[in-house]
Amino acid sequence: MRQLDRDVVIVGAGPTGLTAAHELTKAGRSVAVLEARDRVGGRTWTGEVDGATLEIGGQWISPDQTALYALLDELGIDTYARHREGSSVFVDHDGNRRVYDGEDFPVGEETVRQIHRLVEVMDRYAAEIDPDLPWAHPEAKQLDTISFHHWLREQVDDPVAVDCVGLFIAGGMLTKPATSFSALQALLMAASAGSFSHLVDEDFILDRRVVGTMQGVSQALAARLGDDVVFLDNPVLRLEWTAEGVVAHGADVVVRARRAILAVPPNLYGRVSYEPALPRTQLVAHQHQSMGLVIKVHAVYDRPFWREAGLSGTAFSPTSTVQEVYDNTFHEDARGTLVGFVSDEKADAVWALDEDARRKVILDDLALFLGDEAREPQVFYLSDFGSEEWTRGAYATSFDLGGLHRFGPSQHDPVGPIFFASSDLAGAGYQHVDGAVRMGRRTAARIVAELDGSPHDPTYDGVASPFEVTA
Ligand SMILES: Cc1cc2nc3c(=O)[nH]c(=O)nc-3n(C[C@H](O)[C@H](O)[C@H](O)COP(=O)(O)OP(=O)(O)OC[C@H]3O[C@@H](n4cnc5c(N)ncnc54)[C@H](O)[C@@H]3O)c2cc1C
Repeated sequence: MRQLDRDVVIVGAGPTGLTAAHELTKAGRSVAVLEARDRVGGRTWTGEVDGATLEIGGQWISPDQTALYALLDELGIDTYARHREGSSVFVDHDGNRRVYDGEDFPVGEETVRQIHRLVEVMDRYAAEIDPDLPWAHPEAKQLDTISFHHWLREQVDDPVAVDCVGLFIAGGMLTKPATSFSALQALLMAASAGSFSHLVDEDFILDRRVVGTMQGVSQALAARLGDDVVFLDNPVLRLEWTAEGVVAHGADVVVRARRAILAVPPNLYGRVSYEPALPRTQLVAHQHQSMGLVIKVHAVYDRPFWREAGLSGTAFSPTSTVQEVYDNTFHEDARGTLVGFVSDEKADAVWALDEDARRKVILDDLALFLGDEAREPQVFYLSDFGSEEWTRGAYATSFDLGGLHRFGPSQHDPVGPIFFASSDLAGAGYQHVDGAVRMGRRTAARIVAELDGSPHDPTYDGVASPFEVTA
């Protein structure tokens, strides 16, 4: 068993933990990062499957994600635009397929008017909500104690409009049924991306990808940290703490440190045994954040055949098993790749099928959207973060109904020397890699200030690093 003494021990080598480690190192602090898996990157993960490179986890970046852009700049990593030329496809509640251009779903004039109304209301609230302090909104309690679905139904009397709008946050982002989380949680999601209009605009929210891969960002950070900093295959299951510091127990490394950052998603805080136990506030609060569930579908073809039919590869349906599809062809790859998403209760139903039936139901949907050729991919793969012990769902965690205004205000409070950070706790960039970078930077700056005895700026947004890069 190796024994190490460091200023800060970081639990988790995802983008949050590695950004924090990078910042602390730049500030002259010694760190150790203990990671449960045999790889870095956490929910960003790139795999080679039957000769195809697939982004199994997080991949897209949008123009408002300025902290991630700043980090990419620092690491010398470029981005490229997602393919988006051509018409989109919509399959309506009756199973009718329609090809359309422009921003509005082809759902009839009155429903389009109602959708615009809902987008307007959501945008108005999102503009009023500070994503770092959603519980401070004057209507926070009221908005947090009604489900997003029921709140939408209160705004308009058009179930199709409600489903179409609900799709973007329920299936599309929080990956839970719209009846299971609050309107405030949905509005936080919108505010964290700048507006609800940003979330419904796939050309904005899915704007660009990282040259190389998104996991490559974590790999580049780990490489900069050098040897003897990141320890893989070291789940921390025991954390001793006092006011002075912590002792983190990994599988073959024990780290004594002045501060700890738990850079893991909140649904995994309970996996660690704390000695002494965490206070009541955290013990109770941590039970109210849970992961959503989404299957990311990857289908690779010899060529992007849908482009020949003038289609962009973008398709939506609030009612089919695969609710959204995009052209996900890799940078400079001659083959064509589609990515699709099966979310929440539909994901439950799909995982309950045997492998052949699962493949059929998904490929039937891709064929309905984009043509029969979609039934014969060269590579077919489903991302299954729900089976990953060190994640347990996708994309991220959110509070149960009423939990955000009740437990959110304490989520950033450290417990003695233990700090909590992950994209799940971010305001801007919530649930995204950008939020992970912000949380990593903000937590590192907070710890440096504490160790230095200098004032900490609680309004620091984590966009520009306050620390100089050293050699
Ligand atoms: C399928 C999918 C698609 C996504 N798409 C996008 C996208 O397109 N764009 C985007 O910006 N974001 C996307 N995301 C979200 C994004 O990947 C996450 O927000 C981001 O990875 C969070 O970073 P993190 O470091 O906070 O947490 P994580 O990435 O989860 O990292 C936490 C790390 O902690 C480790 N760990 C957990 N428990 C312990 C323990 N006890 N001891 C030691 N280590 C532990 C885990 O193994 C993991 O490596 C997606 C996520 C998924 C799953």
